[in-house]
Amino acid sequence: MITKTAMISIVGRPNVGKSTLTNTLVGDKIAIVSNKPQTTRNRIFAVVNRGDTQIVLLDTPGFHKARTKLGDYMVKVVNESVADVDAVALIVEPVPEVGKQESMLIKRIGELGVPAILVINKIDTVKKETVLSVIAAYAAAYEFAAVVPISALAGDGVDELLGEFVRFAQEGPQLFPDDMITDQPEKQIMAEIIREKLLLCMDREIPHGTAVVITKFSEREDADIIDIDATIYCEKASHKGMIIGKNGAMLKKIGQLAREDMERFMGAKVYLQTWVKVKENWRDSDSLLRNFGYSE
Ligand code: GDP
Ligand code: MG
Repeated sequence: MITKTAMISIVGRPNVGKSTLTNTLVGDKIAIVSNKPQTTRNRIFAVVNRGDTQIVLLDTPGFHKARTKLGDYMVKVVNESVADVDAVALIVEPVPEVGKQESMLIKRIGELGVPAILVINKIDTVKKETVLSVIAAYAAAYEFAAVVPISALAGDGVDELLGEFVRFAQEGPQLFPDDMITDQPEKQIMAEIIREKLLLCMDREIPHGTAVVITKFSEREDADIIDIDATIYCEKASHKGMIIGKNGAMLKKIGQLAREDMERFMGAKVYLQTWVKVKENWRDSDSLLRNFGYSE
């Protein structure tokens, strides 16, 4: 029986492995993972039950300066998500010096007075001595409640990390049902999967100007098939051409990759149809941002 909850915010610079960690912890694909920074736009609750504790994780976008309204929103989400949690997990690269962004995050964590766990990720890429120097560098910068070296990719140290999260749990009712791994509507997850494939297949300037809206999401009554219609919005007609590709080859590839992930996630066959539309400057428009779900 669940009697405790630990709300943990995962923070760290873009590309440090926050989404990978969330996915590894939950054991399913929720947060989108990409080697291009700033791909996580929405905050995602992931839920992991461990013994009598429900661990609720917030995967936040990277801490960065806002350039557009979308940027403002992302920074706001980071600030808010750090404010009402039981602990913050600061994920860092295995580099033996405290970076500028990490300093900013540590400063903000200190101001809020939230307990912080230092998570040194990607230890599969460095020697043990390097990990020790990283620990030393960060210990000199802040008094962390715990330090856990991990490889989010390989899953090393992840169990220990869950153990640390549990230490910050507070008595309380179960917030999410057992079979629920995220509070994101499935539609949103389907849209994020398509965005991930755009990032995977295209040069970075194009996917960063796209938004994906799921216009249809329905299960067929007579068969284990889900029909999904998606519209990809981009900012320029030239981008539309590139997303569609020669004879529709690029869009076909993106759709195919997305469908495979969707089927894995939903545990059912997916029939996916995609469209590409041009909507100029959507990133600077409040009403369009609301349309795409980037607001409370
Ligand atoms: P985020 O921007 O912080 O959410 O970072 P992502 O989770 O999207 O990861 C960024 C990149 O780092 C991806 O290419 C991941 O595969 C890679 N990555 C994440 N964790 C690890 C790790 O433990 N080891 C290695 N070698 N790569 C990792
Ligand atoms: Mg991410």
